[in-house]
Formats: sequence, structure tokens, C-alpha cells
Amino acid sequence: MTLTVLDHPLAHGLLSRLRERGTEPAEFRSLTRRLGWLLVIEATRDLLAERVSIETPMEETKAVRIAEPLVAIPVLRAGLGLLDAVTDLFPDTIVGYLGLERDEETLEPRDYYAKLPRMDGRRALVLDPMLATGGSGSAAIAHVKARAKPTAISFVCIVAAPEGVAKLEADHPEVPIVAGALDRELNDVGFILPGLGDFGDRLHGTV
Ligand code: URA
Repeated sequence: MTLTVLDHPLAHGLLSRLRERGTEPAEFRSLTRRLGWLLVIEATRDLLAERVSIETPMEETKAVRIAEPLVAIPVLRAGLGLLDAVTDLFPDTIVGYLGLERDEETLEPRDYYAKLPRMDGRRALVLDPMLATGGSGSAAIAHVKARAKPTAISFVCIVAAPEGVAKLEADHPEVPIVAGALDRELNDVGFILPGLGDFGDRLHGTV
């Protein structure tokens, strides 16, 4: 199973406020950032580390240092909401951007913007808050795989639908998914139920 759902009272509380209809963009951004910290901590639990020698004021001792820096790839535009959480915790993170939209003829996701850095030696975190059908999430991961060579890829979202999890598991079984919640289902226009509505609109105040 590649899906990990956060199970912490703080995560539940933050997500409840995010879901509420009346939560305004300023609070929505702050909640996203704080929930993002918990998601990023979980997604980096197995990051490569190395043992080093350090000097405390008292003596020399063994310590641990991270040996696998990150590249964050927010999927525009909702994924921008999770970017600060990554750079807050891992300031050495480099950032790539992917903009995906649905091609009106093929109905498949197509990239309208892609700026991806070299990823050698880095773990890639693909950030896309709502894993709904999994179409854009899967396309984003495929895009990274085709153009760069990170040490590994993880997918970070706030709410996942069973349909999206199944799609990522089928297309990219080696990519772990870290989510704040696994919701019930999609409605007939691809929104997650109970969900929280359009994440990008709520984050950017464009409802
Ligand atoms: N994108 C959103 O912003 N919300 C959903 O429920 C599904 C996709």
C-alpha cells in the first residue's frame, strides 16, 4: 500500500477548518501551510541521512545530517499552497513548477507550463492538494520521470479520493502518496465528496 493518511489530532483539526465553507482565504492559507508541515514531515520520514562527527561545547559526538535534499514541484495553481511548508522545513529545497490543464479534445491533462530543474541526488515532492481523478497527479509524476532523475518521487496532497489513489497506484506504483484525508468519492464533475470545494479558488480568493 503506497497511501499514508495522517492520523494526528492536529491534522484532523486543521483539515476540519479547511473544509468549512466559511473559512476565508487568509485563514485557509495559514491552515494549508500548517497542515503542509505535517504532510511534509510524513513524506520525508525515510529521507537518506548520514552520520557525522560534531563538536558540542562539551565533547565530540556522533550526529545525523540529511543527505538527500529536496526538490518541490507544486502543480499550478493549487499546489502553490503547499510550497511554503516545504521550504519552511527544508530551506535548501529547490523548486520546479508544472502547470497542467485538460486538453479539450483528448480530455487528457496537458502541460501549459513546465520549469523543472535538475534533480540528481534529490527527492522530488510533487505537491497537488486535491487528488481527485488522479489525471493531473499521474501526468505530473510522468512529466518528472520523463525529464529528470530524482532519487525518488513522493506525492503530497491534502485530500485524496479513492479514484485518484487507484489511478496513481496503477500508473506509478512505486510513488508513495501522503494525504491529510481519504474521502468518500468523486461527484459526477470530478469534485471530491465531502471534500472542501475548489482548493485553488479558496486559496487564492477567486471564488
Ligand atoms: N480539485 C479541487 O480543487 N477540488 C476537488 O474537489 C477536486 C479537484
